[in-house]
Amino acid sequence: MPVMHKRQRGTHKTMLEDATIVYRVNSQDEITYVNEAWLQFAARNHGLHLLLDDVLQRPLWDFITDLTTRQIYRNALRKARAGRSIRFHFRCDAPDLRRLLEMHIAMVDRDDVEFRTRLVDAEQRPPVPLLSPLAPRTDDPLKICGWCMKVALEDGAWVEVEEAVEQLRLFDAVMLPPLSHGICEPCYRNMCETLEEEDVDSET
Ligand SMILES: [Zn+2]
Repeated sequence: MPVMHKRQRGTHKTMLEDATIVYRVNSQDEITYVNEAWLQFAARNHGLHLLLDDVLQRPLWDFITDLTTRQIYRNALRKARAGRSIRFHFRCDAPDLRRLLEMHIAMVDRDDVEFRTRLVDAEQRPPVPLLSPLAPRTDDPLKICGWCMKVALEDGAWVEVEEAVEQLRLFDAVMLPPLSHGICEPCYRNMCETLEEEDVDSET
């Protein structure tokens, strides 16, 4: 069981930085395959210590709770099953790393849709404990965009995570708010455009 209980060290880039993360779902949206990098990524970034048996045959939707994000993934799955290939960039930071990833969604055989994520760019920064799965949490969640990693403030503005920490005075907080993943308006519009563009590409 190679994945369990790895600790975040935050002092160096991990071996994951250039590992491609792959998972596949069947026509029932059940997960049929994840690679080792997926399991490690889930553990490191979301604190989910999962074994293969915990993941396989489970609905993809068990891992995507936000309704708008689900809607985007449903739309992407529908387009992929219609033979289209979808690519988009998204941020998925670690506490000490700004990280830009590319997702590629496409059919891989008659039944399975493959989600393939690779690292595009990474930049070190001082660690942001708000993003650590190990930080103790309150009961009052903060919404974070799963695409650009901006955080929603109470006034409706979306700001970079460092700015949110400053504005919410979370520097020396003993307990941090839990993060609930969603999508901000600009990223939502971009994703809708990306999914529409793919239509145009494949029809011409
Ligand atoms: Zn966003």
